Amino acid sequence: PSPLDKEQRQGLKAIRDFLKVRTSYDVLPLSFRLIVLDTDLLIKKTLNILIQNSIVSAPVWDSQRGRFAGILTATDYINVIQYYCQFPDEISKLDQFRLSSLRDIEKAIGATPIETVSVHPSRPLYEACRRMLKTRARRIPLVDVDDETGRETVISVITQYRILKFIAVNNEHNTVMLKKTVREIGLGTYTNLATMHMDNTVLDAIHMMVDRNISCIPIVDAENRVLNAFEAVDVIPCIRGGAYEELDDSIGEALCRRPDDSPGIYTCGEADRLDSLFDTIRKSRVHRLIVVDDDNKLKGVISLSDILKYVLVHGEEDSP
Ligand code: ATP
Repeated sequence: PSPLDKEQRQGLKAIRDFLKVRTSYDVLPLSFRLIVLDTDLLIKKTLNILIQNSIVSAPVWDSQRGRFAGILTATDYINVIQYYCQFPDEISKLDQFRLSSLRDIEKAIGATPIETVSVHPSRPLYEACRRMLKTRARRIPLVDVDDETGRETVISVITQYRILKFIAVNNEHNTVMLKKTVREIGLGTYTNLATMHMDNTVLDAIHMMVDRNISCIPIVDAENRVLNAFEAVDVIPCIRGGAYEELDDSIGEALCRRPDDSPGIYTCGEADRLDSLFDTIRKSRVHRLIVVDDDNKLKGVISLSDILKYVLVHGEEDSP
């Protein structure tokens, strides 16, 4: 192997070792808030709660049973929209659905539920990462059990972004060793990309995300130049208040409804090195990178799961 390969391997190993000696608890900031929603809440009402608090997901609590009941995410709203499309006559019923109905909605539309795995906050972070990759869960709740009452408590939720940011902030001396470029390591997806134009509708985008099992669609012009990206979370403001008319709006109109503090999209080139991606993660709240060429034309998509996967498992097969 070349010196570059060797260094890359050393960097990856150091990061993996770091993840094995840190716990999920270590990722949490000293002070944070956690918004937990009761399963009895009307789905319609939860949209405003998320928007008002500038969050896109929340753990759900079953207060009758005193148990953690899963995590509410943009995927659940997309399921609700699919239900609305499949059963348009049931709109009045849809209005009355509570969070506790989400599993029934999944069943009705035939969606495969995302496995809800939780981890104990004091388990190694490495374990949480492996679980994330295995289940495709993008966020994992940290659930502890009270010694005295035996009751579950949700401490927080860790996401792929939080983990990668934690790596980036605490491992600058290791991430600088990752000098191979995005092209060299084949990071991300470059073929059969799902894209749309500004004048496609929100509903078109939702159907595409569901069909392709992805959470982001680059929006390009007629020359394949990247203009923006439509993300699963962009669906939330479109159905605020339980109104579904805006789903027929164009993607361009929907993107105008993004919150003012929305970070927008991040791009990179195929010649960028993995360490520069970690710099971006360290500095900004990035959820994925759109890969473009010098003319800003679309080349590929790098999701956080692509990065996490590479950092965790690349080259593992050939080492004992
Ligand atoms: P999230 O981005 O919500 O954190 P994730 O990291 O799993 O979740 P997805 O967008 O669901 O990201 O990506 C899943 C896989 O599909 C990744 O390997 C990614 O490269 C690929 N992918 C993402 N967007 C597209 C797209 N528009 N076209 C083709 N492939 C895509």
